[in-house]
Amino acid sequence: MNYQKILEDIQEQIQPELIKGNVADYIPALKNVKENDFAMSIRLLDGQTFNVGCFDKKFSIQSISKVFTYSMALKIYSKELYSRVWYEPSGNPFNSLVQLEYEKGIPRNPFINAGAIVTTDSLVTHFKDKNIAIKQINDFINNLSKDNILIDEDIYMSELKTGHRNRALANLMKSFSNIKNPINNTLETYFKHCSFMMNTQQLATTMLFLANHGTDPLTKEEIITSSKAKRINSLMLTCGHYDASGDFAFHVGLPGKSGVGGGIVAIVPKKMAICVYSPRLNSKGNSLAGTKALELFTTITGLSIF
Ligand code: GLU
Repeated sequence: MNYQKILEDIQEQIQPELIKGNVADYIPALKNVKENDFAMSIRLLDGQTFNVGCFDKKFSIQSISKVFTYSMALKIYSKELYSRVWYEPSGNPFNSLVQLEYEKGIPRNPFINAGAIVTTDSLVTHFKDKNIAIKQINDFINNLSKDNILIDEDIYMSELKTGHRNRALANLMKSFSNIKNPINNTLETYFKHCSFMMNTQQLATTMLFLANHGTDPLTKEEIITSSKAKRINSLMLTCGHYDASGDFAFHVGLPGKSGVGGGIVAIVPKKMAICVYSPRLNSKGNSLAGTKALELFTTITGLSIF
């Protein structure tokens, strides 16, 4: 298949979508982007790379980081983690508080904010210190991307100052004893890993292990067991786009994870990882043109998992 040509066709067809939707502004520093930017990268298991658009421009990975932290936590804790964070779609917005009250502080899945905060809390506990935890998360991402990935301090500080809902989620979960560390230690680590800056090419590279049963195909290192890689992929399919996860599965048909920075990663099992970037979001907080581009990709290539 001529992937370069396919990406160029998608880029052409996507143009009318690039002016629709809105950039996230509830974290003020996320507004500082070029609103109509578009980039898409494909990385095959054999290392071949195909790119279009501003594929070397770094953006805030936001919730895509939840895939990294959940992979790390699953590796460390295995089944113990499942009693603190379930694996069911929530059907609610990414930052919703409602289910937490009647489900006694146990988040529905690791990809909504509450679940990701618990996951991060489990890493802070394991590494015994918030600074060591963020360093380990950074090392994990560096190892997968074969690059040196950095935090954007402005975005981090911006979310630290304005993340009142995430603070509310953490406090509510703490009241049910599902946050084990001081709330600030866990939240600072969470906000920091959301503030890593990466481009589409780097993100596609980091996700290759999930397309290859848990083993990085470029280094042959087992990042996670194949059975855990299966679980992460199934969570990406069922929960990776918040209350639009069904919509994403319906239209795209691939495991994927979005972030409010405008990035989406998607996995084609045994073949490739894809990353698309376009910062204007739909009403559910997912990249509008990015979702459309991935839908075009699976329609043109027939490469959905179904
Ligand atoms: N840092 C963001 C938040 O907690 C992540 C949300 C997202 O990317 O969907 O609100």
